[in-house]
Amino acid sequence: MKTVIHWFRRDLRVSDNVALIAAAKRAETVIPLFIFEDAFRTGPDVGAARLAFLLQSVESLRKNLAELGHTLVIRCGKSEEVLPAFAKETGAQCVFANKRYEPYTQRRDERITGALLKNSVGFELFKDAVVWEETEILNLSGKPYTVFTPYSKAWKAKPVPPPRAKFPVRSPQSVIADLKSDALPLSPAEVGYPLTQKIPAGGERAALELLRKFMAGPVYSYTTSRNFPALDGGSNLSPHLRAGTIGIRTILAELQKAKEKAVGAEASKSCETFLNELIWREFYAQVLHNFPHVTKGAFRPEYDKLKWSDNQDHFVAWCEGKTGYPIVDAAMRCLNATGNMHNRLRMIVAMFLTKDLLINWQLGERYFMKQLVDGDMAANNGGWQWSAGTGTDAAPYFRIFNPVSQAEKFDAGGKFVRQWIPELKDFPDDLIQQPWENPLLLSKSKYPQRIVLHEEQRVKCLAMFKAVKG
Ligand SMILES: Cc1cc2nc3c(=O)[nH]c(=O)nc-3n(C[C@H](O)[C@H](O)[C@H](O)COP(=O)(O)OP(=O)(O)OC[C@H]3O[C@@H](n4cnc5c(N)ncnc54)[C@H](O)[C@@H]3O)c2cc1C
Repeated sequence: MKTVIHWFRRDLRVSDNVALIAAAKRAETVIPLFIFEDAFRTGPDVGAARLAFLLQSVESLRKNLAELGHTLVIRCGKSEEVLPAFAKETGAQCVFANKRYEPYTQRRDERITGALLKNSVGFELFKDAVVWEETEILNLSGKPYTVFTPYSKAWKAKPVPPPRAKFPVRSPQSVIADLKSDALPLSPAEVGYPLTQKIPAGGERAALELLRKFMAGPVYSYTTSRNFPALDGGSNLSPHLRAGTIGIRTILAELQKAKEKAVGAEASKSCETFLNELIWREFYAQVLHNFPHVTKGAFRPEYDKLKWSDNQDHFVAWCEGKTGYPIVDAAMRCLNATGNMHNRLRMIVAMFLTKDLLINWQLGERYFMKQLVDGDMAANNGGWQWSAGTGTDAAPYFRIFNPVSQAEKFDAGGKFVRQWIPELKDFPDDLIQQPWENPLLLSKSKYPQRIVLHEEQRVKCLAMFKAVKG
């Protein structure tokens, strides 16, 4: 082909990018395009942290492309309208992009196919964000898996593809027209989302640096350290996997190298545990595609009949980190301040909202999407439905975390809690996770009383679930 537009979406990188390298191989001229969608300003789930990370990552992509002699064109608007017009302006024969898996983006891509086709322009989508997509791992009856363990076994039985080559330097014979770019907002505040959170650096270099650091050491103790919020035991790659500033094949190739160098059972096991987490990501991506009803309700429809509480004061206390349960409050304050929350804490606060406050998981899911830098429809929905007991996999409704025993197990002495709740600074280590045990000290501090009693709420929760299970 003479000219192909590569439309960057959740793949903001020049290396290990399937559609981009395919465009370089098949077209004389590749025009890199990023569309700042209208939906980024108006969508119900848009959040300042994710938007800021996106803007940083697009800027980094622009620089990386410039180093290779390419100019990233920016256009603002609705992709369904921008793409046909841009294809006409550039005379491109085809638009290449990497596939997305959210139901609304798939419907949009169908509309784009139609709109481009009217002008005889092609639209090719490539598998890039995941190693194996929705129809590639099926059970013996040809159906999608709804339980993780057999899915992960089937996933591991398949060969992992290597990373794709880097996008090459622009060839001298490729013709570039003088294409104007629209200005990107300088900050999320410019489009109505003031950033109050301190977020990590976006962009491909930042992602590769995180990967390098993680594989140089932390990966070998991941099985244990990943559970403790006060330790930085995870890779912190989730915002990058979400924005596509790193390719999944690159991570897997580095993991394979780390595995080969692992010394001792703990180190090898940790590499395997990390692989499992990456597979969880793909598991939830295929759940979202194969069971799109999860975006609107419970994976198991009988749970749509649950009679959730509509106590708005409780919901606000949860959002603001004022429930009186230190581990829950510290986690929520951390989320509000950084756009991030440790995985263990996500499970604790999600269980607390649904099983202690008896509030619908969908409110929590929505709140997370607004706050998280890594907010991803598939992983977030999967995590919420797992915690609420309404989803795929074995998280039965009667498995209810006790927030105090979770805190004592994973934050003994309250190192994490102390970072986020200065009101509790005078409490000794053995009481920091249950300050109500010293009513005098609690009344002197400005920290709130518990808004509910866990043991009472547990009984109510079991009754609520039993009522719909019959
Ligand atoms: C209620 C709830 C909501 C969540 N919402 C999101 C979300 O919006 N976006 C998101 O990326 N993850 C989400 N997770 C999963 C998990 O908490 C984060 O992926 C993890 O905390 C990110 O930190 P990390 O990059 O250091 O992960 P690591 O521990 O280093 O794991 C490596 C990668 O594996 C993937 N991963 C790890 N755990 C999971 C999981 N349980 N499900 C799916 N993918 C996983 C992520 O891409 C992660 O970056 C959620 C979990 C729960 C319980």
